Amino acid sequence: RASVGPKYLSGLNPEQREAVETLDGPVLVLAGAGTGKTRVLTTRIAHILSQGRARPAEILSVTFTNKAAREMKHRLGQMLGHAVEGMPWLGTFHSIGGRILRTHAELAQLKSNFTVLDTDDQVRLLKQLLQADNIDDKRWPARMLAGLIDGWKNRGLTPSQVPAGEAAVFANGKGGKLYASYQERLKILNAADFGDLLLEDIRIFREHPDILRQYQQRFKFILVDEYQDTNVAQYLWLRLLSQAPSSTSPRLRGEVASQGDAGEGDSPQAELVEAAPHPNPPAVKDGEREKGHVKNICCVGDDDQSIYGWRGAEVDNILRFDHDFPGAKVIRLERNYRSTGHILAAASHLIAHNEGRLGKTLRTEDQDGEKVTVTGSWDSEEEARGIGEEIEQIQRKGEKLNEVAILVRASYQMREFEDRFVTLGLPYRVIGGPRFYERAEIRDALAYLRVINSPADDLAFERIVNVPKRGLGDATVQMLHDHARKRRIPLFEAARAVVETDELKPKARGSLREVVAQFDRWRAQREVTAHTDLAQIVLDESGYTEMWQKDRSADAAGRLENLKELVRSMEEFENLQGFLEHISLVMDRDSGADEDAVSLMTLHSAKGLEFDNVFLPGWEEGLFPSQRTLDEQGRAGLEEERRLGHVGLTRARRRAMIYFATNRRIHGTWSTTIPSRFLDELPAANVEITESKGGSAWGGTGGYGASRFDDMEAFGSTYSTPGWQRAQANRNRGGGRNGGGGGGFEEEAATFSSSSSSGPDFGSF
Ligand code: ATP
Ligand code: MG
Repeated sequence: RASVGPKYLSGLNPEQREAVETLDGPVLVLAGAGTGKTRVLTTRIAHILSQGRARPAEILSVTFTNKAAREMKHRLGQMLGHAVEGMPWLGTFHSIGGRILRTHAELAQLKSNFTVLDTDDQVRLLKQLLQADNIDDKRWPARMLAGLIDGWKNRGLTPSQVPAGEAAVFANGKGGKLYASYQERLKILNAADFGDLLLEDIRIFREHPDILRQYQQRFKFILVDEYQDTNVAQYLWLRLLSQAPSSTSPRLRGEVASQGDAGEGDSPQAELVEAAPHPNPPAVKDGEREKGHVKNICCVGDDDQSIYGWRGAEVDNILRFDHDFPGAKVIRLERNYRSTGHILAAASHLIAHNEGRLGKTLRTEDQDGEKVTVTGSWDSEEEARGIGEEIEQIQRKGEKLNEVAILVRASYQMREFEDRFVTLGLPYRVIGGPRFYERAEIRDALAYLRVINSPADDLAFERIVNVPKRGLGDATVQMLHDHARKRRIPLFEAARAVVETDELKPKARGSLREVVAQFDRWRAQREVTAHTDLAQIVLDESGYTEMWQKDRSADAAGRLENLKELVRSMEEFENLQGFLEHISLVMDRDSGADEDAVSLMTLHSAKGLEFDNVFLPGWEEGLFPSQRTLDEQGRAGLEEERRLGHVGLTRARRRAMIYFATNRRIHGTWSTTIPSRFLDELPAANVEITESKGGSAWGGTGGYGASRFDDMEAFGSTYSTPGWQRAQANRNRGGGRNGGGGGGFEEEAATFSSSSSSGPDFGSF
């Protein structure tokens, strides 16, 4: 192959180049961490554009986070030597799905200004439904139902498709019915949750083949990053869009042809029944197998980095790619360009302990570099102190803090580091964690704006109708609810009607009338006032700003600061609608993105990223691997945890530093811990055991002089039984251990931070 060609192609190895230049037909790049998969995708877009094969708006490109989408666009500009105009379809599944749904909202009984609910809203709404149905929400928590519904949506299941057995697990068989009434309520509220952003698209595509065809025609090329973590709904969505428009029956196996699709009855749903609830993704019909029916789709992924099984991801999607996209070219990349030899060897050795994997070769032409270090500390505070000192040293060497990351297994681990960094004055950012926009005062302010934007947004209205206090207590709200339900109108309209009657006491009536009048006024003002000014006016006139000004609590000043920052952040958007849209989709924290700072995030959020220096604290049984995952998913869970460890190690370019503490406080209770079994699984030749700064992990005796991690006794004489049994013994011994304490792990983050965990982009939401 001639190596001449556009500049952006030079530097690619032959396999990468093949993946970039094979523009026709389905392509799967199945390759390990750091082999340039994402780079291939970006270069491929550059190639498509510069070859004139498609315009920016004809390329559908799915990234894992919004941040990754921005980065891709930036790189693209660099490759092509000019900024790329457009690329409206470069984004996450949710942002693109939401965009399509907005365009056809009326087909989902929504208006185009519908609100996207986050987990918090979702749970509050479900609580109301449980109450209305007299279901004890202590016994059957709304959060549990929210989890079930998310799970069903991830699998592409509408209410009528949920298998009876599964619907039965909640509230003695009421799960399915509640899911149905939840969907109905969403329509009345003019709202959708994250799952709907894809599920409703799929429904629209299937019920309106003409609309589907329009998108199939538009998207000349489809590209998907991190394909190993797509769930069934995402798969179905992609599968529909990736059929060539000439194909008249873009249906999947298991579907019954539904003539005259327009029918609103059961038939479109019945169609999906077989296709969706499968453990394996459905295949195409035989007649669609010939080449040409599937168009130019390129997916890249790594089965060893599949870490979202708990959120419904199906690693099978990647394993069956060539089956589902017949004629697919599968390309493997083996050279890792990211990490040094020791790091790569350690990561490869660890993942080799998994059984369920395709297995692949990874090599680097880089030097061996520094060994992976393992450091024991007495407790998590010492761990944070040690890491803080290490980072200061890195800083003294003149390296950038942007090249330092701390990757934790559970979000609660972050607090200790945050405290430490504040003390040290080290700038840091939390990625994918509880975000700015999720703080209470920000949510309140956003609720005001949401009601202005969409008067049917009951959840937002309810949140602020009595904030600040206006004498509109629970009784009033209840009354509004009754009224709204009876007439099937939004709460806001119910309020408008109620103030004309004498159902409320004069005082409450007066303040409610004032609220209605204010919103009417703000809505009118919206037409003539810049949205940033409007936001300031709303905060001031509503008395919300004043409420915090009068507040004596320690954090009131900070909250006022945050509100200011909120108004400032709106400047980046053209209008209120655009801003609210951004909020609902934002997966990663943007503030301070330019500042040189340490990145703090969960292992889950670290996917696709790379840093020179990576700290991996908390490698202890129960915390990592997470006890919860082991309890709930057994061996499969253990393998997913191990993949998470592999993801963590492969984020590092030059230095990977693992830590474990012998004592850890979880939710206020101290417990003794033992080192993670994953430490036993690291290759001795690539690992160096270092002394903790405090030197007290093992009573200060340095009793872990052994350098062989395969040796079960490497971690001192206290534990001479194999890792697995040690974990058992420890589990039986103490009730208050990590993970047993009921939470804080990533999958439960929502419980603690009210961060929306269904976000794609966990964090990507
Ligand atoms: P992950 O599985 O972690 O997402 P990936 O396969 O997507 O990794 P990239 O992030 O695309 O890998 O690439 C890893 C690093 O290697 C990046 O810094 C990238 O710029 C660099 N890289 C990739 N290919 C080449 C190449 N041919 N020459 C030089 N550097 C490369
Ligand atoms: Mg990548």
